[in-house]
Amino acid sequence: MSKNKSSESVKVVVRCRPLNHKEVSNGPAGGIIQMDLRLGQVILRNPRAPASEPQKTFTFDGVYDANSKQRDLYDESVRPLIDSVLAGFNGTIFAYGQTGTGKTYTMQGAWMDPEKRGVIPNAFDHIFTHISRSQSDRQYLVRASYLEIYLEEIRDLLDPKHGNARALELRENPESGVYVRDLTSCVCKSIKEIEEVMNMGNQARAVGATDMNEHSSRSHALFLITVECSQPGPDGRKHIRVGRLNLVDLAGSERQAKTGVQGERLKEAAKINLSLSALGNVISALADGRSSHVPYRDSKLTRLLQDSLGGNAKTVMVATLGPAPQHYDETLTTLRYANRAKNIQNQPRVNEDPKDALLREFQREIARLRAQLNHRKWRSKQKKEQVEVDGEAWEREGDEETEGEDEEGVEKAAEEYVKLEEQRLEMEKEAIRGDQFMLAEEKQRLLGEKERMMGDLRKEQEATEQLTAKYKAMESKLLVGGKNIIDHTNEQQKMLEMKRQEIADQTCSEREIQQQMLVQDEETLELRETFTSLQQEVEAKTKKLKKLYAKLQCIKAEIQDVNDEHVRSRQELEQTQNELTRELKFKYLIIENFIPPEEKNKIMNRLTFDPEEDQWKFQPLVPAESKSSQMKKRPTSAVGYKRPISQYARVAIAMGAHSRYRAENIMFLELDMTPPNTASLDRSAETELNQSHSVDSSPTKDRGVRKSRSW
Ligand code: ADP
Ligand code: MG
Repeated sequence: MSKNKSSESVKVVVRCRPLNHKEVSNGPAGGIIQMDLRLGQVILRNPRAPASEPQKTFTFDGVYDANSKQRDLYDESVRPLIDSVLAGFNGTIFAYGQTGTGKTYTMQGAWMDPEKRGVIPNAFDHIFTHISRSQSDRQYLVRASYLEIYLEEIRDLLDPKHGNARALELRENPESGVYVRDLTSCVCKSIKEIEEVMNMGNQARAVGATDMNEHSSRSHALFLITVECSQPGPDGRKHIRVGRLNLVDLAGSERQAKTGVQGERLKEAAKINLSLSALGNVISALADGRSSHVPYRDSKLTRLLQDSLGGNAKTVMVATLGPAPQHYDETLTTLRYANRAKNIQNQPRVNEDPKDALLREFQREIARLRAQLNHRKWRSKQKKEQVEVDGEAWEREGDEETEGEDEEGVEKAAEEYVKLEEQRLEMEKEAIRGDQFMLAEEKQRLLGEKERMMGDLRKEQEATEQLTAKYKAMESKLLVGGKNIIDHTNEQQKMLEMKRQEIADQTCSEREIQQQMLVQDEETLELRETFTSLQQEVEAKTKKLKKLYAKLQCIKAEIQDVNDEHVRSRQELEQTQNELTRELKFKYLIIENFIPPEEKNKIMNRLTFDPEEDQWKFQPLVPAESKSSQMKKRPTSAVGYKRPISQYARVAIAMGAHSRYRAENIMFLELDMTPPNTASLDRSAETELNQSHSVDSSPTKDRGVRKSRSW
């Protein structure tokens, strides 16, 4: 599975947007950011500090100033990543920065203007152009999904029920890493289709949010593209490579003011930055290299990006900055994050022949449908031949040789068979109708039979057509290199693209060399120093001292800044904690005073914490899986009986007589069936009665009524 085990660091580039009208008219002229494009350096000026304070310098893999073009960023920093994805690596691009600094502009840009198209539309072009230009022995399957994380809930933007659908869950799979369960993914066959998918998602995002800007600064949007490519390997078998590309537009990184909010709003405020602060923690932990625990599980975003940060992926981070002086603090924080992220090491590898490749499933399904279809056609062809051999009453038109086992021949034969069969049935029907010696009833029956045969034939044909349609639909989902999509660019344009690519590569390598030289210069300077006189030595050393002193000052300032930031974030955390404690006390008060303790205990006993979903859950009253084990075992005394019974009942059963009731130990109350012994008004009857009772003088003799007995 793994091919390339080498590790590489996260590539970090910085982009600064131009000053907007408001900023130009507002503040003093000029931004606080300078960029050295050749060296890849950002120089940040503190507008509040005295001019003597040294400026802060950061070095990155690439910097793009206000004049930079979308195309430059793409060609230099994104194109190599997309190429890797097409070769079967996982890739991630995420834009990080304060709201309004151009994250969405960088990721999406203005779709209609070819100059301003962002990373995502350019990546679409790139992927499908690559497919159209690749060799025809390759098959591709491209899928896209779109989701957003809002208030720590994952929402599917391609699901039509988006607004009221429940939040999706994250799952982990040892092979493909963390994934979102039940996420919609659309198979895309062209740039147009994938753009439609993107638009659909963007609309869902806009509909779900009342104020788009507010919403986008609080939600993270992830567009996922999976490119599966099947290609015959040297062993002759088809190998599948799966590249996954995550295109991430993060929420605004600025601190949200949390003061004075309560209840739901507090919860919201606590969650807004949870994902981002968790991302910051993950970056810090990874960049540090010493901490053994990386808190990926702290938020949905970090779990989704687990592979992209310190895992199996190639990652590009675009940090976006605003040049306005009033955002100095935020800009500095962004630069610090970006600087830290440079140190993260990833271990990208080609995903070869993973078990869950959809392409393989598709290929199998297509092969199965094809086999079914061929089988049907063969059957028809054989039937046709049979019919021909039988030499029936009709003529064969044309004498085609169907010996060749090619599919076309079979298909033709199958079609012909259906035609011939239809003709034959028609003719037979005619013959039956015309037969004058046949009884009307018999005629009807035979005609009915022929009708039925016709119906069967049609059904069969319909089934074949359906199967063909299904087969074609399945097959059209797979893109064959250089076949399904026609590349319209002409040779000149292709050359131009190649040249541009070359220039971009050259710029990158030049920058790298420049950066290396800078480092080496500082190191070798000392070695080359030989002094001819004491004076010279003093001068050189003073210069060096000054340089080192400046460096020291820089680092001291840095330490101070970091401390300040720590203090600030600590204060914020304390504040949040205080608010949460207050909330907790309030809830306790309600529980203590208004909920009976036994109810509270009952509820507490049923609650369990689900770390996967980060939520408390109620256990069902009767655990579903132990239902069967809860059934009482049959006692030994009941062997052979319906239920446990007493010794007495058993004897009673053995003796017969009302055993059913005795077995259940129920007292049997039998109705007394003796005739009622009431004094009759009829005198003559009285004498009769007296006579009959004279034989046995029973104690009931004198009483008017006899009570029924029970035993
Ligand atoms: P974010 O997504 O970071 O909140 P947006 O991408 O919405 O910010 O950008 C805010 C505004 O700035 C938009 O109107 C956008 O057109 C403009 N903008 C951002 N970056 C650039 C750039 N590099 N060049 C020109 N305009 C830009
Ligand atoms: Mg945005």
